[in-house]
Amino acid sequence: MSTPEDQFKNVISHAKEYGFIFQSSEIYDGLSAVYDYGQNGAELKKNIRDYWWKSMVQMNDNIVGIDAAIFMHPTTWKASGHVDAFNDPLIDNKDSKKRYRADVLIEDHMAKIDDKINKEVEKAAKRFEGFDEAMFRSTNARVLEYQAKKDEIHARFKAALEAGNLEEVKQIIVDCEIVCPISGSRNWTDVRQFNLMFSTSMGAVTDESNIIYLRPETAQGIFVNYLNVQKTGRMKIPFGIAQTGKAFRNEIVARQFIFRMREFEQMEMQFFVRPGTEMEWYEKWKATRIAWHKALGIDEKKYRFHDHIKLAHYANAAADIEFEFPFGFKELEGIHSRTDFDLKQHEQFSGKKLQYFDPELNASYVPYVVETSVGLDRLFLAILSTSFKEEVVDNGETRVVLSLPPQLAPIKVAVFPLMGKDGMPEKAMEIFNTLRFDHNVTYEEKDNIGKRYRRQDAIGTPYCITVDQQSIEDNTVTIRDRDTMKQERVAISALPAMIDEKVNMKYLLKKVS
Ligand code: ATP
Repeated sequence: MSTPEDQFKNVISHAKEYGFIFQSSEIYDGLSAVYDYGQNGAELKKNIRDYWWKSMVQMNDNIVGIDAAIFMHPTTWKASGHVDAFNDPLIDNKDSKKRYRADVLIEDHMAKIDDKINKEVEKAAKRFEGFDEAMFRSTNARVLEYQAKKDEIHARFKAALEAGNLEEVKQIIVDCEIVCPISGSRNWTDVRQFNLMFSTSMGAVTDESNIIYLRPETAQGIFVNYLNVQKTGRMKIPFGIAQTGKAFRNEIVARQFIFRMREFEQMEMQFFVRPGTEMEWYEKWKATRIAWHKALGIDEKKYRFHDHIKLAHYANAAADIEFEFPFGFKELEGIHSRTDFDLKQHEQFSGKKLQYFDPELNASYVPYVVETSVGLDRLFLAILSTSFKEEVVDNGETRVVLSLPPQLAPIKVAVFPLMGKDGMPEKAMEIFNTLRFDHNVTYEEKDNIGKRYRRQDAIGTPYCITVDQQSIEDNTVTIRDRDTMKQERVAISALPAMIDEKVNMKYLLKKVS
C-alpha cells in the first residue's frame, strides 16, 4: 500500500509526464511556486472554469460575468485594506533558517491533536463495539484531556489574532513546544507581519507615486465596477457579478505543488443583497456551492465546512469548504459575508456614491455582499489527485487511470483504426471528423491497441472508439469505457448521442440547477 505522500508524488510526476503541469521556466531550474499548464492541463483547467462560469452566469438570470484588468488604481488597495492589512504572521527558525507562517504552525499543531482524539475514539469504538462514537467523545478521559488542551490553544490563538498580538502568537508556539520540521529545534525568532502583495511601477519614472500592485484577489475588480454593471445591465437587487482571473500573492510558505502558488487563478462571485438579508443569502450560497462541488461525483466524505476562527476585517460570517487533499483537509473555497465594507470604503476613497435605489423600499442604500471564492488551481489539484488511480487489471499488469469527471476530461474521445490498412484509417478519420465539431477528439494510429488504450486512460479520456475489419463491412465500431474497460459494439450512427450523454456539460449543470 502506498502512503498518501507517495501517492501525491506520483500525482505530481504523472501531471508532468502527461502534459498537465510543468514547473514554470523549468529549463532555468524553475521559479518557485509558479507553474505552467501543458496541453492536457490547459484543457482540464478550461473545462473546470467553464463548469463554474456556466453554472454561475449561464444558469442564473441575476448573475452576470465581467473581465476586469489585473492592474488597478493603487488607491483601490488602500481602500480595500490590502496595503495596510494583507499580511501573514511570519516566524523564522534560527537553526534551519526556514521561514514559516506562525498561524499555520499553530493550526497544524491543533490538527495533530485532532488526529490523536480520532485515534483514541477509534480505539475505544473497537473495544466496545455497538456503542455510539459520540459517547466516547464526551466521556473518554484521554479524549477529554486532548480536547481541553486543544480548546485552550484555540481560545488563546483566536484572542491573539483578534488583538493582533504577535508576542502572544509566538508564546503559543513556545508553550505548545512546536519544533521546526527541518532542524527539529525550538529556536524561533519573533513573529513579524509581511505584506503579500507584489508591486511594480507604471510608466517611465520609478518613484513612490507610480507604484501599482498585481491584484491579490479578483474581487476588487468587481467592487469598483459595481455601479457600471448595475446601471448598464439594469440589474435589480439581489444580483451577482462573477469573474475568473489571475491573482498574485507573494506567499511565504509556497509548498504542496499547485495548492499554494504565487500566481494563481480565482473564480469569484460577489452577490449584492439588501442589508439585513445577508445571512439568508450566506446560507443559501453555502448550500449551493457545496452541491456544485459534490455534483462532480467525488467521494462526499472528502468535503467539509470549516468556520473561520478569525473573521477578516470586512466579514460578519465566513466559512471554508475544505477538501481532503493527499496532505489533509485544506481550504478549497471561501464563502464570506462581506457586509457593505468594500463598497463603503470605495465610496469614501473615491468620493463617488455606490448605492442602490430600491424601488420596493423607496430608499437608497449601500448593498451588502456575499462572496463565493474558489481557487481554480486548487480545484484542479483536488480533482486531479482524487482521479489518479493505479489499478491492477485482469492480466496482472497495473494501469494508471485518471477517472476524471467525463465532462471535464481534456479529450473526450479517442478514435483508433485497429490497423493502418484495409480502409480502417479512412473510416476512423471520418468518425473523427464528425465528432470533432462537438467535442475535443483525438486520432491515433501508432502502437498496438493496448498501448493506445493505456495512454488515453492516463489522461482520463472517457471513451475510445476502435474501427476494425467488421466496421468496414457493417458500419459498427467498438467503444470502450475508461472506467469499466468494457467494450461494446455499436452502430457508428449511434455514437454521437451515446457520447453526448456521458460528456456533455449540460448533464452536470442539470444536477445543480
Ligand atoms: P489560505 O488560507 O489557504 O491562504 P485564503 O483564505 O487566503 O487562503 P482567500 O483569500 O479566501 O484564500 O482566496 C479564495 C480562494 O483562492 C481560496 O479558497 C483558494 O482556493 C484560492 N487561493 C488563495 N490563495 C491561493 C494560492 N496562493 N494559490 C492557489 N490558490 C489560492
